Order: sequence, then structure tokens, then C-alpha cells
Amino acid sequence: MAGVENDQDFAAFEAFCQFMSALRTRNDRGLRVVFSFGYLVRMPFTPLRGLELCLDRSRLDAMAGRLKRLVEAAGFEFRLATDWDEYVVDQMLVLGPHEMAGALESAAAAGAAFDGTVDSRLKGHLERAIREGGGFVSGRLEGPFAGRKGEGYPWALGFLRTSVGADGLERRARDAMSRVERGTCVSGLEAGKGACLACGACESDAEKANLVDHRVVPVSPRQVAELAALIKSKRRMRPRYVRAFLPDALSGAGHEFQKAWLLRQVTMRHPDLVGKLFRVEEAMWSSPELRDRFVAGMTGECVLGLYGIDDDVPGEAPRLSDGAFGKACDALSAAIGRDVVPIDSPQDVSMADVVVRVVPAGDPAEQEVVGRVRAFLSDLKLNAIERRVDDGRLFEIAPKDQKKRILKSVRVVSRSADGSAAAPAIILEGGPRLDLAPLFRHPGSQALTRVIVERLS
Ligand code: SF4
Repeated sequence: MAGVENDQDFAAFEAFCQFMSALRTRNDRGLRVVFSFGYLVRMPFTPLRGLELCLDRSRLDAMAGRLKRLVEAAGFEFRLATDWDEYVVDQMLVLGPHEMAGALESAAAAGAAFDGTVDSRLKGHLERAIREGGGFVSGRLEGPFAGRKGEGYPWALGFLRTSVGADGLERRARDAMSRVERGTCVSGLEAGKGACLACGACESDAEKANLVDHRVVPVSPRQVAELAALIKSKRRMRPRYVRAFLPDALSGAGHEFQKAWLLRQVTMRHPDLVGKLFRVEEAMWSSPELRDRFVAGMTGECVLGLYGIDDDVPGEAPRLSDGAFGKACDALSAAIGRDVVPIDSPQDVSMADVVVRVVPAGDPAEQEVVGRVRAFLSDLKLNAIERRVDDGRLFEIAPKDQKKRILKSVRVVSRSADGSAAAPAIILEGGPRLDLAPLFRHPGSQALTRVIVERLS
């Protein structure tokens, strides 16, 4: 939904739904069909980059309601896949001036992060940056930033040279707004059906011919059977494990980013493992039993699971062969800068004796951190004897409460070995039931905090 759709567009969409409905009735009445919609973010380097922005929620809500009624009347399911705040923030970020970088930093420092979901306070920070982005926008958000843009507009990233020029983009935008469908240069199911739209991306006639003549070949029954066998193998696949130390560079990274980084470290060094090794992921802190007690983005000691198939021994679950596993371990050791150690199972690593260092964001005063620790212990219902020590403050958990196997001690370190003041850190020495969650009671409060597991047993 771009917010510019008119009655004619809705009528065309309704006709499409009816066509789909008839198709399903003829072929498979039980087939589940979901229509998934999102709000169109005007992205740089795309034909509709210059379209006026639609930041009027009531207008898009009304359109979504109309589409939902059409989809459901045809017997299909409707899904709105865009979160409103995320749409607005995405739109501001992709078209905004470079001042956005500073706004993102100040917003994060104030606890309004864009990490998984958007904190609605972030919009205010970005709006201010757009208004203050001298020269880029005169006046209010409703000004040039939100209006129709064309030649002479100072596009974000306008210094980049791309193969598809402004003319090509503008032509496609005019077509779209006039509801002219010119197809694509790729042929589809029949060779020779494509037509070059002269976008400028191809550098030679041979390249153009390659696309125009390209034919999408329908899959054969043999390929379907191979795919089904692979999916079955993947379902039975068993990971191999290593004990590893995640580097500081991954501090605060979400699970998906962390997985992508780990896999890339291996496949970059061993391209032959592409198609054999499918994923590398943290398997201890992010396990269902522990993830509620710890925070995403922890670094330090952990267990990694390596999922892959190149050793299909009959009667055994498919997994990585010793050779491929060895190569992956070497690559991970090189990337991390410390040896990763193969283990048989995650149970080989225990939390019987665990030490975690928490470095709060923003260099808070020692007294503030001590206050957080007192509240944390109170939430966990642990009594402690608090006393001053050379490097800061020590909370020794009462012997009776140590039996709960949550914590043995907590130390707030605010002085280095030579006695000089240092940014306060919390060192938690705990056991198998250690729970960090109460330290981060407010959403986003762990966003810039570094949490490092320094020791496991
Ligand atoms: S064939 Fe090449 S130049 Fe022509 S529209 Fe397609 S990508 Fe653009």
C-alpha cells in the first residue's frame, strides 16, 4: 500500500481476488491462501523514491480495512505485515539527511532503540533531525521531505553512481502512476516474451539478450523428490558442538546477526562448506531453558551448535563429517582469535560456577550502580552483607540464600588496581540458577549494556 491507490485500483484488485478464488475452486478448495500487505517505504534508487510520503495513519488504516474486506469476501486470509512506527521510522531513515546518524545515537543513549522493534519515542528524535537538517528540509516535516520530489532534490546517498539512472527511474514512476504495466525483461515461462525497458543496467546486447531470452523452467518431479529428501534430512539433522568465546565485537548483536556473522566466518574461509554447513548458532544462553534468564547480545563463554549435513551414515542422524567439522572449528578459532573446543553435548559445559561481567551504558556513578544491585538482589529475594572493598563494593550473599544456587556474590568494581577511578562494572559470581533478567527491568535498558560471561565450568 503506497497510500495513492484509487477506486480503479481497488476494483482491479477485487477482480484479481475473484480470479484467484475461481482458480482455487477448480483446483484445490482446501488450499490456504494468505494475502500479506505492507506499507510502501519510498526507497532511494527505486522508481517510487520521489512519490509524496504517506504518513497519515488514518488513510492507510482505511485502505487496509478496505483490502481486508475484499480479501475475506473472496474467502482468503488477510495479513498486515507492517508495524506503523516501524514504517514511519524506516521511511525517515532511508530518505533522511546525514543528521539521522546523530539522532539515532542520541535516541539510543536515551533508551529509544531500534532493535527488533521500534521504540515509538524514536520518531521524535528523527523528526527533529530532519527539521534541523539544514538545507535538506526547509521548515516542517510536511515540507519538501514529505512532498513529491523530482529533479534537483538532494537525494540521500545521491553521490552514489548506479547503473540505473534517474531518467529510467522517472519513466517507471510515470508508468506506475498512470497504471501502465510494461511487464519485465525476463521472459517467464516462455522464451522471447520479455522486453527490454531500457533501464540502463545492462552494459551489452548480450546481457540484454540473456535476460530477455531467459526462461523459467518448471521444476521436474525428480527435483521435487530431491528437495523433499533434503528437507527430511534437515529435519533429522543433529548439530555438533563447540565451546567458544564470543568476541566483544558481537556485543549487543541480535541472535540472527550473530548467526549470520558466525556462518560467514566459516564459509568465507571455506567456500566448499557452502551447502554443507547450514547454520552456526549459540546453543546455551539462547536455549529455551535459559534465554528468559539472560539477555540477547551477551558475549564471552558460550556453546555453539554447528548444523550441517555431509556425512549421511545409514541408521544415524545426518550431521557434519569430522573433516568439515574440523575445518569449521579452525575457521571459527581464527575469526574469534581464541581456540574453539569440540564437545560432545551442551551438557558438557555447566553453570555450576559462572562469572558474568555487566558493564552498564553511559558511565553511571558508582552509587547509581550500587542502587541497581540492591534492587536486583531484592527482586531475587536474596539477603546479602554489603561492604566496601579496595576496588569498590562487595555484596556477599547470606550462606542460607547461597543454597538457592543463584548467586554467591556480587561486586561493583569502580576502581582499577592502581586505585584510580574506572567506569563501574558489576561482577556476578553465580550458580546454575543465575538470573540476570531483573537487572534489566525496563525495555531497552540492556541495549547498550555489555554483558560478558567470563567463566563457566
Ligand atoms: S534487459 Fe537489461 S537494460 Fe533492459 S530492462 Fe532489463 S535489466 Fe534493464
